[in-house]
Amino acid sequence: MSGLVIRGGDLCSSAVSGSFDLRCEHGKIVAIDREIRPEPGDRVFDASGLLVVPGLIDVHVHFRDPGSPERESFLTGTAAAASNGVTTVLEMPTSDVPVTTAARLERRGRHLSGRSFIDFGLYAGAGHSSLDEVESCARAGAIAFKTFTHRPQPSRAAAFEGMWAVTEPQLFQTMSAVAATGRVHAVHCENDRLLEHFAAESADRPGFGERHREARPPVVEDSAIAMVGSLSLTTGARVHLVHVSTARGVDLADGLRRAGADISVETCPHYLLLDQDTLDRYGSFAKCNPPLRAHDVRRSLLDRLRHDGIDIIASDHCSYTTEELGHHAEDPCGALPGLPGIEFLMPSLLTIAREPDQALVDVIAKMTSRPARRFGLEGKGDLVVGNDADLAVVDPRAAVPFAADAGFLAQGSRNAVYLSEVDLRGRAVATFVRGNAVFSDGAVVGSPGHGQWIRGAGTGRSPR
Ligand SMILES: [Zn+2]
Repeated sequence: MSGLVIRGGDLCSSAVSGSFDLRCEHGKIVAIDREIRPEPGDRVFDASGLLVVPGLIDVHVHFRDPGSPERESFLTGTAAAASNGVTTVLEMPTSDVPVTTAARLERRGRHLSGRSFIDFGLYAGAGHSSLDEVESCARAGAIAFKTFTHRPQPSRAAAFEGMWAVTEPQLFQTMSAVAATGRVHAVHCENDRLLEHFAAESADRPGFGERHREARPPVVEDSAIAMVGSLSLTTGARVHLVHVSTARGVDLADGLRRAGADISVETCPHYLLLDQDTLDRYGSFAKCNPPLRAHDVRRSLLDRLRHDGIDIIASDHCSYTTEELGHHAEDPCGALPGLPGIEFLMPSLLTIAREPDQALVDVIAKMTSRPARRFGLEGKGDLVVGNDADLAVVDPRAAVPFAADAGFLAQGSRNAVYLSEVDLRGRAVATFVRGNAVFSDGAVVGSPGHGQWIRGAGTGRSPR
């Protein structure tokens, strides 16, 4: 069978960095060497002057398929992901209907199997009202579990049903149930009672931005991290803290780790690239939970990234229609939270790596080898002989300015105006999933049935 040879590229991964050729066959990497002579029938890709990195693994996306086709689908979301060098996504369980039973997980996996350009895993939701379903969801192949520590806003209650645990006893029970499966437990940390308190306190603040951030100050997040982390010490939960937005949250996780907790920390490009000025400027189009923070908080988060307090970077991609975002332009409580970042993920990552003292190889690892190891994605996340040939070829210098009228693949991308002032650089030139091109020459070239559903298996006691 003919293979694929990628020649002349600058490899950048945890296992190997430098100028190497790479040969793939039967969907696997079969050779990495200074110079590889193609075999008859091989396709040769000239990567001279370009970076070659492992395909990105985005462990936190909300495409919601089949829940809200007017916002996003797996076809549009995974096409945009492929165009950014992403070869695996882990889809969150918030959808209509929410994924909190084995039957729903199975149905969703089958539905998405013909609709994904790239490989994917599915979370199941866990909460105090769905404790009895946790074990069967794990057996059905949930890659990990997701829990919210606060109640959803009323307009979103249906999509979050069965995946929140607010009080300490509810959290303890939920974390114990997930710990018994051995799977990673992703937790959205914001303290419900403090949210209620600060929402009331901030009700008369002027301006969308000020009201949103004062309703959700860092202590709301920090206190939930401390609670979840300390419960993990007793329950044995393998906690994954999603979208941590402050250095103090990272430091708390660090302290809990030293006390014996099994915790990984995730943050998102928007917390590393943007601050509250962007929230003030773009209002409902820059609303996410937790909110974009003050400038000095962003600087210290970058510092923790450099010192490895942060394990994983993920997009937390989340789309709404332009009309939905405009509808609550004056109402921070009613506005829908979440930013549509996946179509800008590769340039965001490379732009973060250009910040002072960041090392490109370490930043890349937080979207490749680190998530693969944490979530037990075998054969993924690194440039190693025997691994899946999941690869991204990248032009690190290409400028990628945001323009609202550009042709986008993901439906939500046109609303990513919050990126308007970021000097984004670095574009995927080609993306390969298990040796097959899914994106090349500026176009998605794969077929939507190519992506495989990766089911979680075993107890997955993989290290941080
Ligand atoms: Zn999310």
